[in-house]
Amino acid sequence: MHPELEAVVKLWENVNRADRLQAERVTCIENRSLTVTNQREAAEALEAARVALDGVRTEERRVMRKLDSYRKRVSTTRTMIDTGKAPDYRLAEQQLRSCILIVDDLETEALELMEQRDDAEQVAEAAQQAFDAAEDASTRAVVRERDRIPAIDRELEDLDLARPALQEALTHEHRGPFRTLRARNRSAVATLRDGACSVCNYASPSQVVNEIEGHTRVHTCRNCGRFLLPGRPEQA
Ligand SMILES: [Zn+2]
Repeated sequence: MHPELEAVVKLWENVNRADRLQAERVTCIENRSLTVTNQREAAEALEAARVALDGVRTEERRVMRKLDSYRKRVSTTRTMIDTGKAPDYRLAEQQLRSCILIVDDLETEALELMEQRDDAEQVAEAAQQAFDAAEDASTRAVVRERDRIPAIDRELEDLDLARPALQEALTHEHRGPFRTLRARNRSAVATLRDGACSVCNYASPSQVVNEIEGHTRVHTCRNCGRFLLPGRPEQA
């Protein structure tokens, strides 16, 4: 490769690697922050599901106790009537009928509460699973951040240290175009494929193509400004 082009490629590899590491660093931190938030939300949802389930269970117990007491009343009143021990037969009959109606209502209510409890149990179970998954994800993200960030920072430091020499190695006339490409957030290099830029497809004049393929001169694409790498491998 032409030594001037090689200098461009080396500097490009350095800054490109640093860009990727910076992006990974940001993603790493954002991901951890996101999973921690998710875990907190899942914990809140789980707590709400448990409170709801407790509420239904408490209500169910209350209704069952009431049902139990009315069933006993039905049975006692019936025995009094059957054994002729009721002080007022007509009143006892009336009481029996009203107690039976209440028992019916309470049985219906108890059945509805059992269904509600089943639903609440399912919701609580799903909330528990969601919380477990969120906790796992958050733990993994925390570990990843803890392990990865120091490694990223070390590599970034190395790249920063190496960069001035690479910038120095760049021919003066190539510094401007390189800076422009960087400022536009573009890749600095493209490959020549059948005489055309691999990124923007602009076909370079044959003279330019020959010089690039022959490694005699460095050219940038006249359309996108990228430094053009020869498409054919160098002759040994
Ligand atoms: Zn181009």
